[in-house]
Amino acid sequence: MKRAIFPGSFDPFTLGHHSIVKRALAFMDEIIIGIGINENKRCLMPVEKRLESIRKLYADEPRVKVLTYSGLTVDFAQEQEAGVILRGIRTVKDFEYEEGIADINRQLSGIDTVFLFTEPEYSAISSSVVRELLHYGKDVRAFLPEGMEI
Ligand code: ADP
Repeated sequence: MKRAIFPGSFDPFTLGHHSIVKRALAFMDEIIIGIGINENKRCLMPVEKRLESIRKLYADEPRVKVLTYSGLTVDFAQEQEAGVILRGIRTVKDFEYEEGIADINRQLSGIDTVFLFTEPEYSAISSSVVRELLHYGKDVRAFLPEGMEI
């Protein structure tokens, strides 16, 4: 069983995230979307709401599970018996940062990180851009998977 965890804050879960999950399902048996809980971070959507709306999105996909976790991502990955951590890369800057984290995670746990490059049409969409647009009262539906509620 090839199981990956896809960790993030997913505040909110965007089309870019959705595309990464879809592409990873082509070579993984199961994806666990792990919503990291960080009490010090101000969020747009309460964790419960994120959990519910992402679960709804994958209600018909038994190979995708959505959970919350706190603490180290590698501890969560080990708990879930996931062989790899999945991360999406939008920019070169993302990659430089993520490479360092992946190294630390591998040293801590032996668990490797698989990177998928974001498709160009989604690379400008980050959760923080969506949050910013919402702040200014813009319609963000075009950046969210169909049926996703925020
Ligand atoms: P974090 O708070 O850990 O950066 P995010 O919720 O922003 O978490 O993102 C979760 C994962 O999805 C990360 O691997 C991030 O690089 C990736 N990601 C973020 N935005 C996109 C996007 N538009 N397309 C693909 N992957 C993305």
